[in-house]
Amino acid sequence: MYNFDYQRPQSVADASKAIAGKDEAKLLAGGMTLIPTLKQRLAKPSDLVDLGRIAELKGIKRDGNAIVIGAMTRHAEVASSDVVKSAIPALAQLAGGIGDPQVRNRGTIGGSLANNDPAADYPAAVLGLNATIITNKRRIAADDFFKGMFETALGQDEIITAVSFPVAEKAGYSKFPNPASRYAIVGVFVAKTAGGVRVAVTGAGPCVFRAEAMEKALAKSFSADAIKDLKIAPGELNSDIHASREYRAHLVGVMARRAVQACG
Ligand SMILES: Cc1cc2nc3c(=O)[nH]c(=O)nc-3n(C[C@H](O)[C@H](O)[C@H](O)COP(=O)(O)OP(=O)(O)OC[C@H]3O[C@@H](n4cnc5c(N)ncnc54)[C@H](O)[C@@H]3O)c2cc1C
Repeated sequence: MYNFDYQRPQSVADASKAIAGKDEAKLLAGGMTLIPTLKQRLAKPSDLVDLGRIAELKGIKRDGNAIVIGAMTRHAEVASSDVVKSAIPALAQLAGGIGDPQVRNRGTIGGSLANNDPAADYPAAVLGLNATIITNKRRIAADDFFKGMFETALGQDEIITAVSFPVAEKAGYSKFPNPASRYAIVGVFVAKTAGGVRVAVTGAGPCVFRAEAMEKALAKSFSADAIKDLKIAPGELNSDIHASREYRAHLVGVMARRAVQACG
């Protein structure tokens, strides 16, 4: 039996109060992951705090040299946003390639990042663009946010409120999708920013990671040719019914080169 208190606060402050000190409370965003988890009885929250009515968590705006996206912004809104398409087209393209129309119209950027599925797309953009995750308590740099499979730096009573993406000089994303779910078997996000080149890989390992050898090679020469001889060791990569670790290692190279070419 389900047995939780359902709450639908109107502000981040009220949502923060609703989960404060409650170890078993859960936030509900698009419900694309949480609802199936509840249905399978894999989660048994004491409180379900629905973020759907909190206007301050929604929307996309330009803030100086950054694009700030509210946590409850749906993937479809990011994909169709003129602000995102003109400033970071690769981010709009990535959002448009998530799941199917139903998932894109329900799933949110905050829910995706909090969940940190090893095959999710947004973690690659967040790490590749060196974005900042803004919560009700602090600002977390991308390099400090993703901790492991389905694990992040978020505390139990911490709410993602927005994500700030610096506008890159160049950015590209390429993914080899699972043909059923569209989750990344391997996805690579490449960005060239004032701070240097970053290459973030999703789907291949237990958690999104940076390919540092590729970053160094691209910093010297930003071209697909510069990384064509670089091999990723299959060592700790994922191996499952969809792809062996050797195949994923191969795909990282192919997707990285395509992501560089997509930068234009
Ligand atoms: C069929 C299918 C296909 C999919 N394909 C893809 C794909 O191709 N690529 C991809 O990247 N993703 C894919 N997804 C995932 C989907 O896009 C969602 O992003 C994901 O399910 C979670 O987002 P949500 O908004 O639905 O969060 P929910 O399911 O509501 O919540 C997920 C978790 O995040 C927590 N949470 C939610 N919001 C916040 C917040 N603001 N602060 C802190 N914690 C929070 C919740 O408590 C919960 O633990 C797919 C999902 C489905 C069902």
